[in-house]
Amino acid sequence: MSGGTKMNDCTDLPCLLPFFMHIDSILAHAGCDPDHDQEDATPPIHLATTFRRDAEGNWPSGHKYARTSNPTRARLEYVLAEIESASRALAFSSGMAAAAALLNSLDAGATVMLARDVYFGVRVLATDMAVRDLIRLHLFDAHVGLNSEDLEALAAAQLVWIETPSNPLLQISDISLLADACRRHGPHARLVVDGTWTTPLIQQPLTLGADIVVHSLTKYMAGHSDVLGGALLFAREDDLHDRVRRTQETGGAVLDPFSCWLTLRGLRTLSARLRIQQESALTVARFLDQHPRVTHVHFPGLGSHPGHAVAVRQMRGFGAMCSFQTGLSAERTLQITARAQVFLQATSLGGTESLIEHRRSAEGEASRTPEDLVRLSMGLEHVDDLIGDLTRILNY
Ligand SMILES: *Cc1c(COP(=O)(O)O)cnc(C)c1O
Repeated sequence: MSGGTKMNDCTDLPCLLPFFMHIDSILAHAGCDPDHDQEDATPPIHLATTFRRDAEGNWPSGHKYARTSNPTRARLEYVLAEIESASRALAFSSGMAAAAALLNSLDAGATVMLARDVYFGVRVLATDMAVRDLIRLHLFDAHVGLNSEDLEALAAAQLVWIETPSNPLLQISDISLLADACRRHGPHARLVVDGTWTTPLIQQPLTLGADIVVHSLTKYMAGHSDVLGGALLFAREDDLHDRVRRTQETGGAVLDPFSCWLTLRGLRTLSARLRIQQESALTVARFLDQHPRVTHVHFPGLGSHPGHAVAVRQMRGFGAMCSFQTGLSAERTLQITARAQVFLQATSLGGTESLIEHRRSAEGEASRTPEDLVRLSMGLEHVDDLIGDLTRILNY
């Protein structure tokens, strides 16, 4: 990184991988390429907001000003691009800042196709933009494929935005199939996949034909419920990428150095965390599926899940999120989640602590989530304790 290497952004970082490595191995060392000055085994944090120019007025470090680029952010963006098989990564101050930067970089009045079951905040943002005529919004059911109205919208669409597994219903959409439809029927369409729930360890949308991946780093990537961050990953550095890069730089919603560093630190244990979290999710989903008080379990790892076959094909594991329904009222469901003692009653996901949430009341008024739905995020507790907690709260 130092030692005279010129660097403007993450793509100029030297490739330090001597040969093919598993993504788990890349993650174990994430951001740790020994700094040539100090031979650090873990990366330093660069806090400087501005960087010295030389006698000719150039910036020998490749960095000018921290909003444009910063060495710690460049390290994180480099690692993110590497693990997602992307040509370029851009890190933002939150997942929503990443989503907003992408939507704000489209042509005025652009058609955006948005899957109905996506992260609530993304749907609210897109809806607000549509109300102000900044975009034209077409909602569709990505998990069942495209009907004739969807195909008509696709002909004009600039973005097709999906989440799989979706939030909070864990519907599975076929990424390759939608990418193929975009290529054939959407001359201007880029397929965007929100990869927050899967991370590149479980699913790599760009290798399945998607154009852009959006991440909330807040969740599994940073992984400890103490960083708010987001990223966009681009398959190609095309004109849309250039516009978003400009929006990142001029809009300024960049990820700060300490959060970049914490995210790199979190990434180094991502593989180990997810292995435990995914295993627990499967055990918990099977337990709930057998439980007499549970009417529906939404988890793609169950053979009865309508998206199971596609999930097997495009995912490595089934993720660590699960939701279930009880047939009770919103009030009774909230009473049940409040009784949990191992699961923490809170929103968000992907931390080391398991979370339980009555999703409808967390989303608020515009929510379309069933009132009896409970969402679980698996942490690192022993699975027997998680099952014990659920056994107790369902024993009403
Ligand atoms: C949390 C989340 C977001 C938003 O990310 P923030 O970091 O909270 O802004 C977007 N998509 C999904 C799937 C999420 O879970």
